[in-house]
Amino acid sequence: MRLIAGARSCGIIRPRRISRRPAAGFYASAPFAPLHGELFVCNNGAGSNLGEIGARGEALRYSPYMHTPAGALLRNPTEAACLSSGFGWRNSMGGAGREHVGLDLANRGGGFIYAAADGWVTHAGWRGAYGNVVELDHGHGVRTLYAHLAEIDPRLAPGMFVPARAPMARMGATGNATGVHLHYEVMVQGLRVDPLRYGPAEDAPVS
Ligand SMILES: [Zn+2]
Repeated sequence: MRLIAGARSCGIIRPRRISRRPAAGFYASAPFAPLHGELFVCNNGAGSNLGEIGARGEALRYSPYMHTPAGALLRNPTEAACLSSGFGWRNSMGGAGREHVGLDLANRGGGFIYAAADGWVTHAGWRGAYGNVVELDHGHGVRTLYAHLAEIDPRLAPGMFVPARAPMARMGATGNATGVHLHYEVMVQGLRVDPLRYGPAEDAPVS
């Protein structure tokens, strides 16, 4: 394990590089993504941009898949997580707001991160404030990005095909992250879209 801890003070969070080296074959033998029937908000809904929330803390807009020009994509490509921040404008420490262009899916215990759909790796490695990142191209102008990863399957390299729901990485807090979570972005024809709201709503949740 390589650990370069960053100092933290209010308003300034220096990138941390926390890289774990998984054992050979670890990802090859890991199970594929579970299909989550529901998505609950973290901390009793204390996060920002969470959208409509039901009485049990469930995100009402959630269904397991979003339908895109590249086919169905997972809205929650984690092993287990709650929704800590949604897509859109949010206030940040120090008063200046900023646009949040993805979903934050949090789990203190980490867990696997999976390919949202069949795709080809365009990036697998460090990317500044995003920490360890995997980016996939699903064709038809659809891309997904997975940031702040603790570690990435060392087999992943640009050009490699990854099947839908395959384990690719584990959740972490690398880069500018205040806690262990996945920052998940979906791009359609160059525009970042809200993974919770994109496409037609599905009829019934999967249990
Ligand atoms: Zn985020």
